[in-house]
Amino acid sequence: MSELIIEQFMCRSDNFGVLVHDPETGLTASIDAPEAEPILEVLERRNWTLSHVFLTHHHADHTEGLALLGDRFNLKLIGPKKSMDKVGGIMLPVAEGNVIEWSGHDVKVLETPGHTLDHVSYWFSDDALVFAGDTLFALGCGRIFEGDAAMMWESLEKLSALPDATQLYCGHEYTLSNARFAISMDPENAELKVRAEEVARLRRDNLPTLPSSIGVERRTNPFLRAASPELKNTLGMSDASDEAVFAHLRQAKDNA
Ligand code: ZN
Ligand code: FE
Repeated sequence: MSELIIEQFMCRSDNFGVLVHDPETGLTASIDAPEAEPILEVLERRNWTLSHVFLTHHHADHTEGLALLGDRFNLKLIGPKKSMDKVGGIMLPVAEGNVIEWSGHDVKVLETPGHTLDHVSYWFSDDALVFAGDTLFALGCGRIFEGDAAMMWESLEKLSALPDATQLYCGHEYTLSNARFAISMDPENAELKVRAEEVARLRRDNLPTLPSSIGVERRTNPFLRAASPELKNTLGMSDASDEAVFAHLRQAKDNA
C-alpha cells in the first residue's frame, strides 16, 4: 500500500478543495466538489485524472462542481444514502459502519449528522486521515441547520474518539474567527493561546490552517472540550451535562 498524496487548495471564498491521489494505482478522489475550476486546475498541474468523489453532505457549496466534473471524467460518486433524494448521481450510497476499499485503502464511513441530517465523514483508517466536511472544523464545528445539539454532540464525540494522530481535513477555512471565539470561552487553555497565535500568523501570510489533527482539536477546540471539567468550571457550568455545555457553546458562537 503506497502513501497517498494530498492536495489541499481554496475554492469559492472559504471552501477547501481536497484531492487524494494514489501514485500506485493512479486513482484520484475529490473530497466534495465545491467548485470545478480550481479542482480542474490542480488535476491538470498534477497530471491526474479524477476517478472518484466522496461527498460529505448535500449543501450547494459541496456539490456545485459535480456536474462539470461529471462531464469531464468517468467518475464514481460516493455519497450518503440519506443524500440521494437531494443529490443526483450517487453511485455508491454509504451509511454508518460501511467500509469502502478505495484503491486498496480502507475508508470507514462515520455518520456525523447535526449540520445536516445526511452528513457523513470519511475516515481513511490505514492512512490516519479523516475528512469531516462541515461537522468538525479547526477550533470549531458546523452550524446546526437540520439536526439538534444532542445529535451534533454525538457526531463530534465520534470524531473525537479517533486516534490522536489522525490528520483532520475540513470543508472550510474558518479557523481565525473560530480561534477568537475559542479564546473567549476557554481563556485558561495555554495550548489554545499558542495555537491561536500560530493561526493568526498563518492567516496573515495567507496560508491554510489545515490539516489539523484530532489530538490537537481534542485539547484546544472548545466544542470537543464540552466534557472537560476545567472548561465547565471556566463557564460556570460545573454540574451541567456535556451535551448542555456543548449546546451552550454552539449557541454562544451562533450569537457571536
Ligand atoms: Zn454545509
Ligand atoms: Fe459548507
